[in-house]
Amino acid sequence: MKLSRPLKLIVGPSEILETYCRPSFCIPEWVIPEMFALLREHRGCGLAAPQVGIDARLFITSWGAIYINPVTTWLSDRRIQSQESCLSFPGIVAEMTRHLEIEICGRKYSGAKAVVLQHELSHLNGFHIAMNGAA
Ligand SMILES: [Zn+2]
Repeated sequence: MKLSRPLKLIVGPSEILETYCRPSFCIPEWVIPEMFALLREHRGCGLAAPQVGIDARLFITSWGAIYINPVTTWLSDRRIQSQESCLSFPGIVAEMTRHLEIEICGRKYSGAKAVVLQHELSHLNGFHIAMNGAA
């Protein structure tokens, strides 16, 4: 994986934002701290690797969680509507339907955190809020 430093936020449209990302097994140690720095700088809730140009199944959240090759083990039938924005699509607010709860990597989340996790998981699968209902 060839990475250029410092990491930069990718603003769409961009092919990497519509790529199904590959499992990540070897991430340079500086990547995650730089992702957290970008997340704080832009006051985001989460940041996925493709948003910084990296084809890897990796994302971080504003509450300090790091997910590498995350596996979703359960999604609630109950859904909620959420108004979402995305650091990669400034100015867009999309009305999304998300699961109210999600179990990911053995932990269950609901509400706002569940929405953030689903938003970031969508990025790993090449979907985003600007894709009109597809994320
Ligand atoms: Zn996003």
